[in-house]
Amino acid sequence: MTKTLTMNDCPYCEGHGYVQLLLGGSETCYSCQGTGSDHEEDDDH
Ligand SMILES: [Zn+2]
Repeated sequence: MTKTLTMNDCPYCEGHGYVQLLLGGSETCYSCQGTGSDHEEDDDH
């Protein structure tokens, strides 16, 4: 684990918005809906 992710980066796609498929190609990240951000705490204060 040498990469340092920011708190807002999606842990699945590492902020790219898509994930690499084992069979080849890429797919829109299902976790962040392609935004690349972790929207777990996305409410305004
Ligand atoms: Zn993602």
